[in-house]
Amino acid sequence: MKVMKFGGSSLASAERFASVAHLIVAERDRLQGPPYVVLSAPAGVTNELCQMVTALNEGAVDGTDSATNTNAGINTLHSFQQRTSQLLNDSKPLLSDAVWMVAENQLKSLLNDLSDKVKGCQLLGSCPAPVATALSVAGEQFSVLLMQAHLSQLGCESAKLNPADFILVGDQDLVDVSESSVRFDALSLAPMVHLMPGFYGEDQQGQLHTLGRNGSDYSAAVLAVCTHAESCEIWTDVNGIYHADPRIVEGAQLIEHLSFREAIDLSYFGAKVLHPNTVLPLAQQNICCVIKNSQNPEAKGSMISNNRTSKKTVKAISNLSDVSMINVSGAGMKGMVGMAARVFDVISQAQISVVLISQTSSEYGISLCVSGAQAEQAVDVLNRCFELEIGLQLIKPIQCQNHLSVISVVGDSMYQHKGTASRFFAALAHAGVNVIAIAQDASEHSISAVVRSERIEDAVIVCDHYLFSKQARVDAFLIGCGTVGQALIGQIKKQQAWLKKKQIDLRVVGIANSKKQLLSEQGLDLSQWQQQLDSAPASLNAQALADWAQDQHLINPVVIDCTSSESVSQDYETYLAGGLHVVTANKKANTDSMSRYVALHQLAAEKQKQFLYETNVGAGLPVINNLQNLRRAGDELLQFEGILSGALSYIFGAIHQGMSLSEATAKAKSLGYTEPNPAEDLSGLDVARKVLLMAREAGLSLELSDVVLDAVVPDDLAQISEADAFMQALPSYDDAFSEKVKQAEANNQVLRYVASITDGQCRVAIQAVDSDHPLYDIQAGENALAMLTEYYQPKPFVIRGYGAGAEVTAAGLFGDLMRIDTLSREY
Ligand code: ADP
Ligand code: ASP
Ligand code: MG
Repeated sequence: MKVMKFGGSSLASAERFASVAHLIVAERDRLQGPPYVVLSAPAGVTNELCQMVTALNEGAVDGTDSATNTNAGINTLHSFQQRTSQLLNDSKPLLSDAVWMVAENQLKSLLNDLSDKVKGCQLLGSCPAPVATALSVAGEQFSVLLMQAHLSQLGCESAKLNPADFILVGDQDLVDVSESSVRFDALSLAPMVHLMPGFYGEDQQGQLHTLGRNGSDYSAAVLAVCTHAESCEIWTDVNGIYHADPRIVEGAQLIEHLSFREAIDLSYFGAKVLHPNTVLPLAQQNICCVIKNSQNPEAKGSMISNNRTSKKTVKAISNLSDVSMINVSGAGMKGMVGMAARVFDVISQAQISVVLISQTSSEYGISLCVSGAQAEQAVDVLNRCFELEIGLQLIKPIQCQNHLSVISVVGDSMYQHKGTASRFFAALAHAGVNVIAIAQDASEHSISAVVRSERIEDAVIVCDHYLFSKQARVDAFLIGCGTVGQALIGQIKKQQAWLKKKQIDLRVVGIANSKKQLLSEQGLDLSQWQQQLDSAPASLNAQALADWAQDQHLINPVVIDCTSSESVSQDYETYLAGGLHVVTANKKANTDSMSRYVALHQLAAEKQKQFLYETNVGAGLPVINNLQNLRRAGDELLQFEGILSGALSYIFGAIHQGMSLSEATAKAKSLGYTEPNPAEDLSGLDVARKVLLMAREAGLSLELSDVVLDAVVPDDLAQISEADAFMQALPSYDDAFSEKVKQAEANNQVLRYVASITDGQCRVAIQAVDSDHPLYDIQAGENALAMLTEYYQPKPFVIRGYGAGAEVTAAGLFGDLMRIDTLSREY
């Protein structure tokens, strides 16, 4: 025989009552015998009834106009009347007249009874506890009467079982299960379908007493023990227990099997699907518990039993909200014997249940978490208990921090694996969630962290990602829609489906140019972005973007800077501090002052965010990453020489094929090799920035002003800030420049624009090189970098290839994007 419990979500409409009735009848017809059925109130009804009780009591408590409160009480009663009448009326087409009329009469008498009670409270100006309970459980009474009608319609006779006849409720809403069993046995019930309203029983004084919100699950467990049931089925609106709250984690996975222990921990730490007290009595009697979906009865559900469960390290994540943390601390506590005992004694005497405890090893303080609703009382009783010590300043006045939540990871096999706690806390750090307190049960079946409530969703989503999901997830926000930005969007669009197959979910959630900003947390449609951006309203604001990313609970939000803008590069700190990774093709931040370079990298490390800039040197060529890897392996850069500008590589190649400097520059510009204003290339400043960054990556502490820079063109030309003006002025220097070219050619040499690092000194200058020089052949946009290192000598480590152009730069940015999730998992 089974106990079947149907929650409010399964009883939210007349149709659901009817389908639950069918499930009960189907169970009755099985060989195992008629089930015992526990019913909750229809969804939302208990909330209203509890509000009614509060309203009826408020006049008594705060002295407000009792008529106002009583009216609020009457209004709620009216709304209960409407809701129940609606459910009864909606049931009319499903029931015979005779059956319906019986139910209607029963509802009338229930409503009359409630109305009398409310009027009584009105006269009294308050709502005494037993009346409050009777009012609060009216929803359950209604469910039973309407279910009896639906069963009767199916020809199924049923009897009402009154929980007050046997369920004995004690302190902290805990049931005395053995005494309840004895009382139950004395009832000697006939074998038939019994319907029991959940949520309450009776206390030692014979008064009605609830089992706490969501308590019908617990009622069902107690009944299962009393009836020696083969199983206790909890029917709800989801297919079973998921590895995380399905309202927070999209695509949470169903857990087919949990141990009693895991289910206890999960429900205790907030998984709403089960009341926290439900599983223990079942575990003690080894009665399995099955969670099933009343709207999808064919689904297997989740089984909670003693059978061996999977070896998965972390089985599930749960979150418990509305928690307060109380701190009892003070220098005088050190070594005081019996402090903890006094704290917990006074708390338990006040019937306050403690969610979590954490104590500093120096005994300087004890922190305990209680539900928000009981925090004030807890502070009060503790302040009174330690009045003397507080007066003597041995203990500080009791402190309380509200609006907290607890996130926990749970799993029986956790204790067998190393590193679970570090992965859990790394994930929290990755989400930028500050951990206020930590608790781990001694047998390592669960680890909990207390966090601020406003961050709990982020904490759950990010922990789910790093502890459960193998899928990489990157949410990109692209700034700059010039040639590089457009090429990157094109590449992402082309690769998205392929990446998805490889378990990489790369979405572009935002695109901005200097005027507009387009956002979509679901990911933008990359075939439409241009028109959408043109008509988008807002312009870019770094802090607002970081706030938006946090509000959307994005897992790996990344800003990709495809501009060369100084002002965009000034926002990196805001992005990193706001929880975004930064990938950039823009060299401005890395070549700003040395102190900023260091601070930026420190900030990224502190916030556990990636700051990637492979394209800052050599566009798509793997320069920075290789240099960093060499250094990680203990290598040192001894000397460097290279051609670091694709534009200048092209221009210097072309001038030896007969073009003038201005012609070669115009050609390079038209091919997209140069900066929008080629003066920036010919001034040598861009190359100087690159070599400076190489030097910094190699461990040198240098400023841009330390780079010895010989520009390609004289300063007056190099400083022209407007592209057209520069191109017009450039031919004036052609003759002088061609002299240099001729001279080199006469010596069988070619001119190259070479960056070097020698003896800690960076230099950028035109160099005439012989035919046996490694840079002699480098032209047509190619870059070449020769690194002489401790490990690579006397032959240097050489990287060579196209170092300019939108596609290769975009590919370099793409490569950085692809590393984000993996690097983040390494923390
Ligand atoms: P009922 O009305 O049937 O008692 P509840 O609302 O009390 O239903 O509990 C079911 C709800 O619990 C689900 O709809 C789901 O949103 C929530 N829930 C929270 N955590 C979990 C979890 N880990 N697995 C399944 N459901 C969960
Ligand atoms: N109806 C009660 C509540 O809402 C009990 C339950 O649903 O389990 O808390
Ligand atoms: Mg419930």
